[in-house]
Amino acid sequence: MASANNSKQTVAVIGAGMTGITCARALYVAGYDVTVFEKSRGLGGRMATRRVGKTLTIDHGAQFITARSDAFKSFMQRACKAGTAEIWQPRLGEDEEAVDDDWYVGRPRMNSFLKPLAQGLNIREKATVSTITRDGQGWRITFAKGEPETFDRVVCTTPVDQARTLLATEPHIIETIKDVTVAPCWALLMASEARLRVDGDVLRAPTDDIAWMARNDTKPGRGAAGSVWVVHASVDWSRKNLEMDKDDAIDALLALVGKVTGGKLPTTTYESSHRWRYAQTENPLGQPFVATDDGTLYVGGDWCLGARVEYAFESGNAIAAALIEAV
Ligand SMILES: Cc1cc2nc3c(=O)[nH]c(=O)nc-3n(C[C@H](O)[C@H](O)[C@H](O)COP(=O)(O)OP(=O)(O)OC[C@H]3O[C@@H](n4cnc5c(N)ncnc54)[C@H](O)[C@@H]3O)c2cc1C
Repeated sequence: MASANNSKQTVAVIGAGMTGITCARALYVAGYDVTVFEKSRGLGGRMATRRVGKTLTIDHGAQFITARSDAFKSFMQRACKAGTAEIWQPRLGEDEEAVDDDWYVGRPRMNSFLKPLAQGLNIREKATVSTITRDGQGWRITFAKGEPETFDRVVCTTPVDQARTLLATEPHIIETIKDVTVAPCWALLMASEARLRVDGDVLRAPTDDIAWMARNDTKPGRGAAGSVWVVHASVDWSRKNLEMDKDDAIDALLALVGKVTGGKLPTTTYESSHRWRYAQTENPLGQPFVATDDGTLYVGGDWCLGARVEYAFESGNAIAAALIEAV
């Protein structure tokens, strides 16, 4: 339960991905004075969709969302009813194993179902946090640009490597999260008028170097002419080639796709690459968040529990509940 004093409590939430927005919404509803700081422009973090021209959109981060807990199932079902998410039913090729879970996607973009949660929140975009340090009973936040600000409570929901940098002055937190590891991922985005010669709309690990290939234009609401593919390289390949130039990565990734299609590739009308330095959790923390003993600083994200959007939802809600309880 929220304390009677919560309206006096200011809370800074760092990061406007699934964890940050879930947490900020719950705190806002409970009456806290919440400000969200996000370094990029827009919501969603790794639930990312690139807009190409006027009509083409391509999801280059999270590909689909599974919901296993009752709470998250009902969240995704409500989003479907509201028209901001939908179940994606790609055609699976003959060699692909059947799918047990529903695969949800935001509609028309991956982050679409976060937008209603963000309504009414004070979200400061293009605000990169540089440090988070104690300041009396509260916390002082400095930014890459602009004046420092002080808050009663802080919730940090950045990827774990960034959290380590931001919280360098909190040895207990750093020690607790030291074993968490997150793998990188190189992504290729490609569009062509002609079809790619493969069986099905989704190929899971078709070679050692490719973890995932999916036909993005088969997702609801993406609306593209032709054939649009997203390809994610395997963790090993991505790690080995992490510092590759982005243009070189396009050529290298196209060559990997060529191995799947027997060397034949259609002429592309669009091609691009994206390097995710922190893509998917390999070794999670094993608990939904970590906090200081006095309950004024919380650190969370999907990396606490695993590599899925549902874990980000769980981490964000768990932090909000703990913060409310602690006040
Ligand atoms: C290539 C790829 C494929 C994936 N596929 C799937 C999938 O199919 N299904 C699935 O469930 N999950 C998938 N995931 C994982 C999923 O995207 C994440 O679990 C989820 O989006 C994590 O949400 P989050 O809020 O914890 O973190 P993020 O989405 O990373 O949000 C953190 C936010 O913090 C911001 N930030 C970072 N540093 C700062 C700073 N210093 N100051 C201010 N803001 C900052 C970032 O810009 C970002 O918006 C995939 C991820 C990737 C990259």
